[in-house]
Amino acid sequence: MTETQKFIPVAEPLLIGNESKYVNDCINSGWVSSLGKYVRDFEQQFAGYCGGKYGVATFNGTVAIHLLAATLGIGPGDEVIMPSLTYVATANGIRYTGATPVFVESETETWNIDPATVEQAITPRTKAIMAVHLYGHPANMDALRAIADAHNLWLLEDAAEAHGATCNGRRVGALGDASIFSFYGNKIITTGEGGIIVTNNQAWAERAYFLENQGRYNTDPYFHPEIAYNYRMTNIQAAIGLAQLEKIDHMLAIRQKNAAHYNQRLAEVPGLTLPPQAGWATNVYWMYSVLVQDEFGPTRDELRAQLRQAGIDSRPFFYPVHTLPMYNTGQSLPVAEDLGRRGINLPSGATLTPDQVDYICDTLISIHKAY
Ligand SMILES: *Cc1c(COP(=O)(O)O)cnc(C)c1O
Repeated sequence: MTETQKFIPVAEPLLIGNESKYVNDCINSGWVSSLGKYVRDFEQQFAGYCGGKYGVATFNGTVAIHLLAATLGIGPGDEVIMPSLTYVATANGIRYTGATPVFVESETETWNIDPATVEQAITPRTKAIMAVHLYGHPANMDALRAIADAHNLWLLEDAAEAHGATCNGRRVGALGDASIFSFYGNKIITTGEGGIIVTNNQAWAERAYFLENQGRYNTDPYFHPEIAYNYRMTNIQAAIGLAQLEKIDHMLAIRQKNAAHYNQRLAEVPGLTLPPQAGWATNVYWMYSVLVQDEFGPTRDELRAQLRQAGIDSRPFFYPVHTLPMYNTGQSLPVAEDLGRRGINLPSGATLTPDQVDYICDTLISIHKAY
């Protein structure tokens, strides 16, 4: 069996820097819980990387969304507008507060929230717009900013899939009023499990820190004036994250190179729509994703089964959240639904080699030709 014939995963973490050195430092020093220098360093450096002032690290991305909503005082009776085509955590994190996620359409250009449909969904109960930078391509933040400002709404970013992506040359994460990231094992950089809130708003950062620390002030550790949470990141997670952040440019470059290679090999294949790349954005290709159109031959799911037989892992796109049982609104969002049906994520991690990309493309092309 040659290297390229082994099972190729969709994503795999690349841990080639100071991860073990920093983790060992946690263990040798005894600072394995959520106190310790790596947490504060990671918060500051990651926020700085995004162009933001404050970072509040959490134990995963989902709780970062809940913590952000709780920090803003979002709750029952409030509405937050978001794209339906996203990972379920975007909706769940808002729903945990009792607020209502309001789902809107995706645009064909970027596969992200369609600003025109946001405007139509605003009601007197709307508190915020939550943009999601799906699969690594930024949402149209300029258009969303104009709408948010015109209606006096907060603009939030779920940037869990887009560390380092840019809009008009500025990194995501500090383009909205606050953002969240995930550091799950398959994300652009990882802490195992992990998340963070990034914001320029000092009062929000302090409030988030208070709420994730069981509602305590440093001056009086057992006086808890409110029901709050333990959502803290551990020093071990942050140690891994700091080492990952040192290598983020390297890891982004690998993804860009692999995506360019995929694009070049797949451009002429009939019935495949390649990933978005708006002129004003850089896509970090968290996932290298294509749409399987009817002209390709086999359906998306038939293609996935054949790739699997050739040792190539893939993922279907998310189900648009408005079609999941607990959120089923009976809405019709044809663009999001079509993307959800046709989209496939091909192997995309930073461990992927050019030979593997060639093997995946050869396999895709032969599946098309055999049909
Ligand atoms: C990964 C992800 C999250 C958060 O996920 P966790 O697994 O809880 O860290 C949130 N939103 C989106 C869009 C994601 O892809």
